[in-house]
Amino acid sequence: MNIFLAHKDLRIRDNPALYNASLNGQYIVIYLFDQNYWSSNGYSLRQFTFVNDCLRELNHNLEKLKSKIHIYTGGISDLMAWIESHYPNSQIFINQSSDVMYFRKSMFHLKRYFHEQNRINCYENFGIQTRDYNRESWSKCWAKIMNSSLTELPQRNKHELKLPLPTYREFSEDIKKILPSNFSPQKGGEKEAHKLLRSFLDGRAEGYSKKMSSPIEAIESCSRLSPHITHGSISLKFVYQKLLSEIDKTNHKRDLYSFKKRLHWHCHFIQKLQTEPELEFKSMHSMCDDLRPGSNPELIQKWINGETGFPFLDACIIYLRNHGWINFRMRAMIMSFASYNLWQPWQKTSPLLAELFVDYEPGIHISQVQMQSGVTGINLPRIYSVTKQSIDQDPDAIFIKSQIPELEDINPSSIHNLELLNSYRDPIVDIKETAKKARESIWSVRSNKDFKKIAKEVYLKHGSRFKKRAYREST
Ligand SMILES: Cc1cc2nc3c(=O)[nH]c(=O)nc-3n(C[C@H](O)[C@H](O)[C@H](O)COP(=O)(O)OP(=O)(O)OC[C@H]3O[C@@H](n4cnc5c(N)ncnc54)[C@H](O)[C@@H]3O)c2cc1C
Repeated sequence: MNIFLAHKDLRIRDNPALYNASLNGQYIVIYLFDQNYWSSNGYSLRQFTFVNDCLRELNHNLEKLKSKIHIYTGGISDLMAWIESHYPNSQIFINQSSDVMYFRKSMFHLKRYFHEQNRINCYENFGIQTRDYNRESWSKCWAKIMNSSLTELPQRNKHELKLPLPTYREFSEDIKKILPSNFSPQKGGEKEAHKLLRSFLDGRAEGYSKKMSSPIEAIESCSRLSPHITHGSISLKFVYQKLLSEIDKTNHKRDLYSFKKRLHWHCHFIQKLQTEPELEFKSMHSMCDDLRPGSNPELIQKWINGETGFPFLDACIIYLRNHGWINFRMRAMIMSFASYNLWQPWQKTSPLLAELFVDYEPGIHISQVQMQSGVTGINLPRIYSVTKQSIDQDPDAIFIKSQIPELEDINPSSIHNLELLNSYRDPIVDIKETAKKARESIWSVRSNKDFKKIAKEVYLKHGSRFKKRAYREST
């Protein structure tokens, strides 16, 4: 018996572990539902709402192949014991996944246990180096993986197999009861992912490189593929190859080249966590962990609830809370405010923010959080001014008013300049003063004589060797 363990690869197309498991015509598909995982560092049931759509569609596609998803509820070690008691000679098929420590630790045991018995078959998912890590050859290696052939569709099962586990259809009735009821994120599933890619390449990408900065224009002009890439309802390789096949035929080449670069970044950032899993808890530059020794739960709560008194910032957080997504620049601004203006340790704020993102990808999120907190040592610190972003990105306060209706009758200039009297809550900090203090603290650490030496080590381990890209990462 072959067992495909689905995790972040919820698709039928270009799914190497599923395809290889299917080759003997006698395979089962198990999805592990572990409630502790969904409440581990940055995860939330908001994300599972999207995953549930993906599972539904994958199950539907598998049923056409005389297969289906079965659900195992529990932890990885319980699942291992279950496999051993029910299918002691089975072969296990998985796709590689870089994830939070909670998952990595038990997945490591699973892999080692089945490896010792020659029963594990593990396949690359993204373009990261899982063995023989070498930063110098990283880009070449990425290109090789991304240009390799796509995997064929899985084969049919010879017979339908009955398992002593609930089917996805049975599970889906129960799961509805615990999913957040007042939240409807982007729709998940393979069909939706391909539809988004098609509409992006066909025209939505026009103006992408400029429009991506605006929280309003980005909604339509960004690809919106992030949750699909994260949870695997489309493969990154598929996206990349489709892009390459069309990029020179379109009249928005510049935009698509900008998109192409971001597909590299996707794996570049995940690689950091893969190479150094401790980054989930420790700053990339070791001298930066002492910068923010204490935390203020009350300030953090106001920040994550969108109650800071800065209308544009609050509008961005409220939008994120309602939709599970916001564009890159606004994510950077939200994080920068928590780390610089509120001076809170990123380890406390990062999971709260991640829980709101439907596309939460630990490798990208944690690297970005660290960059926007000035703790990597290899990127120049950038403190976003929430008032400047407010004026630049929402001059007529349209976005702000759409999220905070009580400001409907106030003129944009008063909103940007916080001349709101009793119409809105008071700002929780003075942004000029706090930014100045933050700048001084950051630069005082950076001017320490040992800082450069450690920063060089960080660069050698994690830094992009492509100068232009390294610069842009920090902008
Ligand atoms: C604090 C912070 C946290 C973030 N957390 C996440 C996260 O958890 N998951 C996530 O996918 N992205 C994260 N990003 C990066 C970025 O904001 C999102 O990838 C992007 O907004 C997703 O929208 P899109 O798919 O329309 O992007 P597009 O602009 O259409 O980009 C296409 C794809 O490229 C990748 N990508 C784009 N920008 C980046 C980037 N800066 N770094 C790495 N990969 C990128 C993503 O896979 C994305 O889907 C974070 C950024 C910041 C500042």
